[in-house]
Amino acid sequence: MHIRDILSGSKPSLSFEFFPPRSATAWEELYQTIRDLEPLDPAFVSVTYGAGGGTRELTHDLVVRIKQTTSVPPVPHLTCVGHSEQEVRQILERYAFAGVGNILALRGDPPRDQPGYDWSEGDFRHAADLVRFIRKFNESGAHPDPRGFGIGVAGFPEGHPTTPNRVEELDYLKAKVDQGADYICTQLFFDNHDFLDFRDRCQLAGIHVPIIAGVMPVTSLSGMKRMAELAAGARYPAKLIRALARGNSSPEAIERIGIHYAAEQCAGLLNEEVDGIHFYTLNKSRATREIFHSLGLAAAV
Ligand SMILES: Cc1cc2nc3c(=O)[nH]c(=O)nc-3n(C[C@H](O)[C@H](O)[C@H](O)COP(=O)(O)OP(=O)(O)OC[C@H]3O[C@@H](n4cnc5c(N)ncnc54)[C@H](O)[C@@H]3O)c2cc1C
Repeated sequence: MHIRDILSGSKPSLSFEFFPPRSATAWEELYQTIRDLEPLDPAFVSVTYGAGGGTRELTHDLVVRIKQTTSVPPVPHLTCVGHSEQEVRQILERYAFAGVGNILALRGDPPRDQPGYDWSEGDFRHAADLVRFIRKFNESGAHPDPRGFGIGVAGFPEGHPTTPNRVEELDYLKAKVDQGADYICTQLFFDNHDFLDFRDRCQLAGIHVPIIAGVMPVTSLSGMKRMAELAAGARYPAKLIRALARGNSSPEAIERIGIHYAAEQCAGLLNEEVDGIHFYTLNKSRATREIFHSLGLAAAV
């Protein structure tokens, strides 16, 4: 199903993100998570792509399995850093053949162990180049949907670390939309004002596609530290840190506090009539199910 059809359905869209696991046990756990979350009737689920294509096959396998065994449309992430046009075309052809309707088009980050990364190693420099490439693929008629793949791109409510000039950054985001992106999914954030201001700035910049808010419940202190590294630039507000400190390092209390904070955040976003909320699940179902439950979003769970 094309993302434009998905997002024009009942609003807001509620969706989940998974990453492809690396061990057989973790795959089983993930399938259980997917079984647990499917009754929440997500609009779509997305599957991450390891840095530099490190999980290319795993991402593909998980996406195809979700497509074949659930009723939920999967959206694969695809990063272009280090890839040739030919490699990306092959990836797109496989997804088109499998009937996958949408792609989240990303640049990705250069390998961490290569500080002076040579950008000429791949055919793409920015995510906008990948969006343009997918649009051309769509125009070639190689996808079963005459519109081709629906295309999503990343947005950063608190700014992207490598572009300190926020005005310029919005121009680059607009370039991705002008190249053919159908929606924006944001980096996680913990203060709704950051998202709402970003949404307003997008409006003023002439960006009029749906903007889906990325939310990640904190469920452990170690997870929070890992995410601070991965989502570089994301700010943990004092209100959240203070609340977590009250948990006194008890894992159960930290999890309860993190889920409560994320539920309040989601209630605020729903009140602001956001286009959608995308849950970074970290392949676990409990936090997301509890948030749905406390917001009355899913009576059956
Ligand atoms: C929702 C979401 C999902 C993600 N999923 C993954 C994943 O699955 N795998 C993964 O490896 N990473 C993932 N990331 C991380 C992402 O790949 C990195 O944050 C990356 O640094 C930025 O990607 P982008 O697609 O926004 O790139 P771009 O849009 O290319 O932007 C990258 C940087 O370049 C700047 N820029 C853009 N165009 C130009 C230009 N013409 N000239 C100069 N500067 C420019 C931008 O301002 C920004 O600072 C995800 C991020 C988000 C928000």
